[in-house]
Amino acid sequence: MEEIKIGIIGGSGFYDMEFEDAKYVDLDTPFGRPSEKILIGKIGGVDIAFLSRHGIGHRFSPSEVNYRANLYAMRSLGVKNLISFTAVGSLKEELEPTDLVIPDQYYDNTFKREKTYFENGIVAHVSMAEPTCSSLTGHAYNIAKEIGIKVHKGGTYFNMEGPQFSSRSESFAYRHHDFSIIGMTQAIEAKLAKELEMCFLPLAFVTDYDCWHKDTKNVSVDMVIEYLNKNTKNAQKLVNLLANRLNSNTEECNCDKSLEYAIMTNHRYISTETYKRMKLIIEKYVKEPEANK
Ligand SMILES: [Zn+2]
Repeated sequence: MEEIKIGIIGGSGFYDMEFEDAKYVDLDTPFGRPSEKILIGKIGGVDIAFLSRHGIGHRFSPSEVNYRANLYAMRSLGVKNLISFTAVGSLKEELEPTDLVIPDQYYDNTFKREKTYFENGIVAHVSMAEPTCSSLTGHAYNIAKEIGIKVHKGGTYFNMEGPQFSSRSESFAYRHHDFSIIGMTQAIEAKLAKELEMCFLPLAFVTDYDCWHKDTKNVSVDMVIEYLNKNTKNAQKLVNLLANRLNSNTEECNCDKSLEYAIMTNHRYISTETYKRMKLIIEKYVKEPEANK
């Protein structure tokens, strides 16, 4: 199968993107099964892999999603540019419902997730100083503006565990820390994408003002659904243009080198079993154990 360079993970409200020549592939990974079969199709003539983060029908809670399998499956298809769509709450007045935010920082407050590939005999510490790809962010920001989406570049995504939304007291505390948006999934994907040396582009559509805002009571489920539908249309347009631009894009970032100095374990101590599980991720840097002897 030809490598697919662009992958999309879609969450709440982003299940209805339209693809040409769509087919599904059922993948298993050394880290378990992804949330769903991966849809492979074309948007604007460009091959794209799409995965539903919570599974079709929304079956996995943010704590239950197998993020490692989801991202590994994308990587195994050849995906170098990973776009993560998500719906978020806004913690700032100026980030209004239906706006698009492209965060550039994460505050990971989760405690019930598997969030590294490096364990059981191999250790790596990747830098998370810059969790997202500045090159993809630049492209997405420009395109969003061109097509009339109200877009904000930068900001901190606060990743809560959930599944409950914030209490008002928590919401005020997050605002006090100057976080921009709040969600339950994306920080984990940013970490894993970094370990997989992928370019990571987060696209967060605001659906509501969390619960700190005085207008919170005015946001109804109907309104949120209407927002999400509008977001899906915008998202589709954005992906269409982005896919074509990325397809002709030459490398402008260092995302594919994030593991270069990160693997701490002496290569001689990496077992055959661990190597086998990690091969796709580390083969650029670590020789097969037999070859070391
Ligand atoms: Zn990059």
